Amino acid sequence: MAIVFLKPGREARVESGHLWVFAGEIARIDGKVDDGGIVDVRRYRGRWLGRGFINRQSSLTVRVLTHRSEEIDEEFFRRRLTDAWSYRRRMLLATDACRVVYGEGDLLPGLIVDRYGDALVLQTLALGMDTRKEMLAGLLTELLQPSAIYERNDPAVRMLEGLPRRSGWLKGERDPLVEIRDGPARFFVDIAAGQKTGFFLDQRDNRMAAAALVKDKDVLDAFCYTGGFTVLAALGGAKSVTAVDNSQEALALARRNADLNGVAERCTFVVANAFDELRRLSSSGPRFDTVILDPPAFAPSKEALERAAAGYKEINLRALKVLRAGGFLVTCSCSSHMPENLLMQIVAAAAVDAKREVRLVETRGHARDHPVHPAMPETRYLTCLILEVR
Ligand code: SAH
Repeated sequence: MAIVFLKPGREARVESGHLWVFAGEIARIDGKVDDGGIVDVRRYRGRWLGRGFINRQSSLTVRVLTHRSEEIDEEFFRRRLTDAWSYRRRMLLATDACRVVYGEGDLLPGLIVDRYGDALVLQTLALGMDTRKEMLAGLLTELLQPSAIYERNDPAVRMLEGLPRRSGWLKGERDPLVEIRDGPARFFVDIAAGQKTGFFLDQRDNRMAAAALVKDKDVLDAFCYTGGFTVLAALGGAKSVTAVDNSQEALALARRNADLNGVAERCTFVVANAFDELRRLSSSGPRFDTVILDPPAFAPSKEALERAAAGYKEINLRALKVLRAGGFLVTCSCSSHMPENLLMQIVAAAAVDAKREVRLVETRGHARDHPVHPAMPETRYLTCLILEVR
């Protein structure tokens, strides 16, 4: 097995439990390297630190799989996948759709597995996982007996690993439109053509938290996708829900989802750029009691943070203007580069500009099937702030 020696002084991160080694941290590699294969990671002077996959084509060169001296074989992956599934079962999630494997959060870097009813969706975002795709699919079949496994390997990050983007059935085949149960709601999820792997599983608990605040209220759900917050809010007794998204396909499914739950009469769907729609509403009304903002990641990189901050400020400012006194703002960011305190500062600044007073009711993150690795801030990307507005 090849050995990766870190540069002097570059061992602290891996020693603290972090799972990534970047190219610039490597002093030298001893032995024959097989990209996608297993290497040992050692300190400059030789002390053993961990074992993981290597891919010299990626600036994220080694992904550590274990800090223990254990063999990385099929049995290793069986144990990790069994642990991941056992954790979800113990969480007693009120759903038949959840993230079964959340990459680093499950000590399986580069692997995402989502369960939608009896179908699984798999993403292998690192070369080491990609080369083991068939084995992983076999182990998942053993563990979960899915009717089919769909590969959603279309994310652009695959290119950083030198991997092609592809999607298709890996095992079995079924209608890609899957009906799932999520708390009191049901949803159609398009696992082949939907965004991400089809549904925003990470927002499950935040949708429930928002829905608890809307009885007999008028709700605006901006960036609604297939109606996650909309349907939950309507089931929570909202008087009306106005749902805005710029994707025709997403809204078509959102409408079907409202129908499926028998709440379509109280929901209005608007195809529009949410920035424009919020601006229009803030100048001409109507007003709302709860506004949900769940935009796509405006800050996909650190460099994009400044522009992203302006985007977050703009939508939060407009949202505050359309809110009635005593209402709630549910504002989210799924940018991993956007720290929670920065989102809070942005909302505070937006409140000053909007001449509104706000107070924080609750700070939330992703649902429990997306466990955060404490040594890896990168595994915590979702912030949801609930504020009361006066
Ligand atoms: N709240 C949703 C997930 C939202 S994902 C849920 O719980 O399921 C972000 C959504 O924003 C996507 O559906 C995307 O189509 C939409 N979107 C991106 N840019 C937009 C824009 N400028 N205006 C309106 N919608 C936009």
